[in-house]
Order: sequence, then structure tokens, then C-alpha cells
Amino acid sequence: MDMKHLLRNLILLGCCSSVGIAKQVNQAVPNRAPLKENAFNPLPLGAVRPLGWLLQQEQIQANGLTGHLDEFWNDVGPNSGWLGGTGESWERGPYYLDGLLPLAYQLNDPKLIAKAKKWVEWSLESQRPDGQFGPAKNDDWWPRMVMLKVLTQYAEATDDSRVLPFMRKYFAFEKRELPDRPLRDWGRYRWQDNVYAVLWLYNRTGDADLLPLAKLLHDQGYDWEKQFDNFAYTGKQTSEKLGLDKKGPIPDVAMQTHGVNNAMALKVAPIWWLLSGSESDRSALARQLTMLDRYHGLPNGMFSGDEHLAGRDPSQGIELCAVVETMFSYEQDFAILGDSQLGDRLERAAYNALPGTLSNDMWSHQYDQQPNQIACTRAHRQWSTNGPDSNLFGLEPNFGCCTANLHQGWPKFVSSLWMATPDGGLVVPAYAPSEVRTEVKGGPVTIREETEYPFRGDVRFTVQVGSETEFPLVLRIPEWAGVATVQVNGQSMLPSDVTGSQTGFYTLRRNWKNGDVVTVALPMEPRSVRSFHNSAVFERGPLVFSLPLDAKWDALKHYTAQSADWQLTSSVPWNYAVALKGCGPQVKEESVTATPFDVEHPAVTLQVEARQLPEWKMVENSAGTVPASPVSSNAPSQTLQLVPYGAAKLRITAFPYLNESASCSK
Ligand SMILES: [Zn+2]
Repeated sequence: MDMKHLLRNLILLGCCSSVGIAKQVNQAVPNRAPLKENAFNPLPLGAVRPLGWLLQQEQIQANGLTGHLDEFWNDVGPNSGWLGGTGESWERGPYYLDGLLPLAYQLNDPKLIAKAKKWVEWSLESQRPDGQFGPAKNDDWWPRMVMLKVLTQYAEATDDSRVLPFMRKYFAFEKRELPDRPLRDWGRYRWQDNVYAVLWLYNRTGDADLLPLAKLLHDQGYDWEKQFDNFAYTGKQTSEKLGLDKKGPIPDVAMQTHGVNNAMALKVAPIWWLLSGSESDRSALARQLTMLDRYHGLPNGMFSGDEHLAGRDPSQGIELCAVVETMFSYEQDFAILGDSQLGDRLERAAYNALPGTLSNDMWSHQYDQQPNQIACTRAHRQWSTNGPDSNLFGLEPNFGCCTANLHQGWPKFVSSLWMATPDGGLVVPAYAPSEVRTEVKGGPVTIREETEYPFRGDVRFTVQVGSETEFPLVLRIPEWAGVATVQVNGQSMLPSDVTGSQTGFYTLRRNWKNGDVVTVALPMEPRSVRSFHNSAVFERGPLVFSLPLDAKWDALKHYTAQSADWQLTSSVPWNYAVALKGCGPQVKEESVTATPFDVEHPAVTLQVEARQLPEWKMVENSAGTVPASPVSSNAPSQTLQLVPYGAAKLRITAFPYLNESASCSK
């Protein structure tokens, strides 16, 4: 090693200790036999950190609701049952921690770490001699499933030696107790989240008692695979259909069509396949996604659920909890199955549905977002079962679950930007500015990913290794890109330079030297795709584009100086039909600012030609059902500027298209 490299490594090590997690090795833990092998293994919390705009996004989050919610929202305040108080003792504390804790450690923010640690300490201390933990007044299995996910992340970030024995003791308790006190309601439909933590522990301890517990949870849990093998819920659900208009416990059909339950259940089959090894379990996710796409798919990367499955009309909504849980499911699914398209799906939800339902400062959020969203007001809408507050931006519009659960979205996405390959390499499941710091063949490897993705298609990786090390670097090639241009140290890679390629991936197997640079160019041609009623949706790369409506924000109620409920209204026309022939969308790239999903400074825009369509009107306070295309209009042609969906808080995303060639004025 020459002096320059030595110096660089010293700087690297200095940097490592200054970012501060008291942990030396950031290595993945592979599955232990007899579990099936993952395609890729997640890296522990802290191995991946955000850079660039994504780091700024996490800082905004830390300065917004996530960093301050406990200071004024009682459900996660000091009287929470999860802090030993007499207050909320169900899922809200654990939900909040499931996002606060990874955010705290990724930012290495001492104040946030101290906040998160309080809850972790109380939970660990709360364990009884028989193994049970958590608020004594609520013995529901479900909120504990969430707190266990928190503890797995905490253990990864800190190596705190108390966590593994704590979990063993709890799972022994659960295994003894479940036959007499089986899973019920939410826990019965979300059992896979419990199995997730059981397998996490099994891979670290090899404790033979854990696999029978996983099987017991499976046997007591709802059979999601069967639901999608014979899918009956093909239309919009209503209170009457679901029996929610009657008093009593929530009927099973309502649990089975519940948006968030369905989002969490997107990881059921892959997780269960790890144990069963059955081909039909392995392939079940594809069937599940096909049904959700076909009957409930929305153009923002989600399916509808407001609060129940609601069909494909882009004026239907999807709950924020379902967005972050869908992302978490795709992250697990990608790791287990190694299907490149699951990375495409993850990016689509993360780069559209997630920012689209949060205010720029992350002080307010919606319960339900609509792809075609012309007003966010307290009013009756065509939801399946939700209330009149559901699309307001606020503290807890409609119901407070999303207020507690939204925090995991960005941090878990960051954790999943890099994973380990079973043959000692690294894979890029989703592109974003980030840095991974791990160990390959006993030596430190750091890769810095610099990019303005998803607003640009160029990505630059700089490799830092202690000494020359051979390992594969696997790049996901999104389906929309078709083909990528890859260079190593300025030299174009031909297909013959690539070994071990498989569909949707590009593998660079090399002897990596310090300072090696890989550049990837993903072509981002704008495109229009067909959606509900043959409508047109414009996309570029992983971004979906929308017509932003000039939104006026009016506070309905203030909780603190920063936290308020807002209604959004607009007086500009929204009922346009677009021209698909002629000029086509013109792309304009603008600079990527600290808040790239800000409608005032969109990082990229598309111009399309359009005419107003007078017969498309507001119905039940939403854009009426998008007219079936093609349509005709005599209104004058205009140029519309579309912005990323996430930037347009009032928007039209799915347009009817005109039965004509555009009168292209360019
Ligand atoms: Zn929610």
C-alpha cells in the first residue's frame, strides 16, 4: 500500500469513528439451515447512510414530526404505556419507534438516539420472569410484533448484548402461551411480522425452538395465499358490503380487504417460503401482485385502500400506513426473492406515493392520498369506508395510525439501498445518493454512490477498499431503462465483460482497487402508460408526473407553531385531456434543490399538449371518474407543465387522451 492509499484509509477510518456507532463490523447475517437462502442479505442498520438530497430529506424529517412528535402528541408522549405510563398502550409507541430509531442511527443524531433509547430501555426492562414484555394492561400480540422489529434494528445498530436473550425469552413465552391464547384480529392478519423477528433471531442464535414457533404463528395466522389464489375482492368495498355498518367486532371480510393488512401481507409468501421451501409459496407473491394491480392498481405505485380495497379509479385513495408498509414488504421481498422488478416497485412507491402524501417540511401528512386529487378539504368523498378528514394534510387526519407509522418510510428505504450477495459482494436494489460501509473477505469496503437519481439517470460509485479485493458489484437495471451504459474507470463495459448476468441485473465481478469508479447511465426517456379507463399517465425513470394545481394552504387548526391541519384548495382548471401524438412530452431538467419534491422548484418537468374537457366534472368533491379514452374536445390547445407526483400536492395524474394528433406548436 502506498502512502496515498494509506493516508486515504486513515482518513476513512477517522471518518468511521467520527460517525460514531459503537460497532466495528457491518456485515449481513445469512439465513441459517434449514431455512432457504435469501437471494440477497440485508445489511445491518447503520451500514448504509444517506447522502445528497436523501440526507437532506432525512434531516427535514428529523426537524419535522419525527423529531418532535413525542413533545406534543400524547399518544407517543411521556405517559405512553410503552414508557410505563397509563396512556396509549397499543401500537402507536412501537410504530413511532420503528421509524424514529433507524432515522436516529442513520443520522447519528445524539438527541434522536436518546429519544429512541428511552423506549428501548423501558421495553427491555419491562420483561417479566415469564418472558412477557410491554404494557401490562394490554396483552395483544400485535403491538409486540412491531416492537420486536424495532429491537432487531436496535441490536443491529448497537450490538447491545441484552437483545438476543430478551427475544429468546419472549419467544419461549409466546410459544407456551399461543395454544391457549391464539392470535386474534390484527395479529392474526399480520402474523408474518412476528415470523420476521423470529427468523431474524434464529439466524443469529440457531435456537431450534424458534422454527416450531414460526410454524405455530403460520398455522394460527390468516391464509393470505389462499385469498389471492381465488381472489374474490375485485371491486370497491363499502361499509354495507363489509358489514361495518353493524355493531360488533370487525368482520373478517373487512380485515381481509383492509389496505394496510394487504400491504403488510405483501411479504407473507416470501417469508413463509424461507421455511416451507415450496415452489407455490415462492411464486405466490407474483399472483398476489397481479390481482392487486389488475383490480386495485393506482398510478402512484400503490393499490387503493381507503380504508378498504377500492378499485382502480384514480380518485380513490391509499392510506399512508399502507405506503410505508408496502415499501417495507418490497424491501424484504427483494432480499428474499432477488427479483429486479421488486426494486422497480419499491422505487415507484418511495419516489411517488411517499413524498406525494407528506408536506415539504414533514410537519403534516395525509391519511389518504388520491392520484387525481383536486381538493383536500373536510368533506364527504367517495372513499370505501373512510371519513371526511381523510385527505387533509395534518397531524392526525381521520385516524392517528399514520401519524405514528409514517416515520419508517425513508429510513428503512435507506437501509435497503444496499444489500450483500451470498457470494460476498454487494447489490444495489434501489438507486439514491448513499454510502455503504461493510466488510468483504475480512477487509473494509466503502462505496459512495453519488447521484441526483430519481431526477437524473446518472449514478457514480466510488469504491474504497483496504487492499485489492475481488467481489461482485451487482447493479439492478430497471425495466423502464431497457439497457444501461456502465463504465469502470472511464472504460465502457461490454456484455462480454460481464459475468453472471441475469435478467434485470448487471454484475461487475472484478478485483477492486482503491478509488475505482463505476458510472452507470440509465436512459430516462419520458413515456406514457395506460391506466384506468384507458387513461394516460406520464412517467420518466421511476417518477410519475402530475399536473400540479395551484394549491392554497389554509390552516384549520394549529396544534403547535409548526403542527397544524390544513385544507388545500385550488381555483385553476384541472379537467384536461392530453395529446399523445405529435410533440410528445418534452423534458426539462432543473437543478435539484434541498427539497426536490417542492412544487415551486421541481427538479424535472414534462411539457405536454392538452385541451380542456368540459364534461369531466367534480363529483363528490373529487375529480369525477376519468372519462374513457380516447375523447374529443374543441377547446384550444395548451401546453401543460407536469411535475413529479411527489411535488404536486393537488394534482391530476391520470388523464383522458385526445382522439387526434397534437397541434404541436414547437
Ligand atoms: Zn394509518
